[in-house]
Amino acid sequence: AFLDRIDAHNEELNAFLHVDREGALATAREVDERRAAGEQLPRLAGVPIALKDNIVTRGMPTTCASAMLAGWLPPYDATVVTRIKAEGMPILGKTNMDEFAMGSSTENSAFGPTKNPWDHTRIPGGSGGGSAAAVAAWLAPLALGSDTGGSIRQPGAVTGTVGVKPTYGAVSRYGLIAMASSLDQIGPVARSVTDAALLQDVIAGHDPADSTSLTDVPGDLAAAVSEGLDLTGVRIGVVRQLQGEGYQAGVLAAYTDTIEQLRAAGADIREIDCPSFEYALSAYYLIMPAEVSSNLARFDGMRYGMRVEPEHGPVTAETVMAATRGAGFGDEVKRRIILGTHALSAGLYDAYYGAALKVRTLVQRDFAAAFDEVDFLISPTAPTTAFVFGEKSDDLMAMYLNDVATIPANLAGIPAMSIPCGLASEDQMPVGFQILAPARADDRMYRLAAAVE
Ligand code: GLN
Repeated sequence: AFLDRIDAHNEELNAFLHVDREGALATAREVDERRAAGEQLPRLAGVPIALKDNIVTRGMPTTCASAMLAGWLPPYDATVVTRIKAEGMPILGKTNMDEFAMGSSTENSAFGPTKNPWDHTRIPGGSGGGSAAAVAAWLAPLALGSDTGGSIRQPGAVTGTVGVKPTYGAVSRYGLIAMASSLDQIGPVARSVTDAALLQDVIAGHDPADSTSLTDVPGDLAAAVSEGLDLTGVRIGVVRQLQGEGYQAGVLAAYTDTIEQLRAAGADIREIDCPSFEYALSAYYLIMPAEVSSNLARFDGMRYGMRVEPEHGPVTAETVMAATRGAGFGDEVKRRIILGTHALSAGLYDAYYGAALKVRTLVQRDFAAAFDEVDFLISPTAPTTAFVFGEKSDDLMAMYLNDVATIPANLAGIPAMSIPCGLASEDQMPVGFQILAPARADDRMYRLAAAVE
């Protein structure tokens, strides 16, 4: 049924870059046979899933929506893919994204943008717009995304789906093509909090192949969701810095309505000051490109995907690398590599990268102080609803500002998720409600999400 919906709608939406009809059906048939034979199967056996195209899949194209990797077939599976296969979940295919996960609108894909299923003139968010659109349009019941600065949560917000960034280290990054390794985290995209919890239970867990993988990952999130949460006296902090100026009126109205419902249910709502959040976006746009410049050095025209030889002059490692990178990377990727290389260069390192790391520590301290006072923090997930294609592509600051509410969680490594909280009055587009919890308290975060939902 999902493959049929993909056939009917993907040409218009462009949510999938690759569909594996045969592979998905083969897994589904195998699950049917095992079930018919009376075998006890895992919880999500037979439930199809879509994967963001920066998660490597053995023998299935993985492009990061870049010309650089067009046609590349990975020789191995990411750990999350191994887990999904062991669960018996058919993999429907790979979803569109901003090139190498850099963007907030999916307009940076080398293979054309994905459309928002709610309104085809609008962006589906980014970088994981393909996964969010696939789930919102019911082309897939579940998907995986990756979140470096909001790429699961913001697409979730603007497509009316649930998007979760787990605690850093809860889900293995082995086989996730790295953007900024200290910020990247794989997480679920789903239509309900329960579905997201079931999926995180499948993908989370210690992995010796990822040196930042946690050994004490919070378990059984689905059980936490069914347990729910009595809101009486639960202390919830409204982040003062993540509201007001720059936020669309209809977004704030839907957000405030939800807060009032929490208050009516007995929650103790407090305003919380996080003064360094003002500098979080600037710090992110130094730390992230610094890591990008290093991580993307591996695309040298020799090891993976595209290889372009120079038109003139000698063919050396350096000239092949320059010609390949010039042809293979899009503008945004080049911009970030140049910015990051500059910020890391001798003489500027302390002023830029060093200063950004200090801000990162201050953001972590703000969270630590806040979580001494409250059990959760909340904010709108994104300052606006889905914008119209082209509206922000010429104004980088406006595009980057979209991430203002999602970035602090990545800088601190804490779990955060976006759940739908109604439509904005101006444009009848979905609004996302963000919940943040202390590191390793993913179970607590899911319990509040279930109560809000
Ligand atoms: N929009 C942010 C950026 O462009 C977030 C990207 C992400 O989380 N992968 O960097």
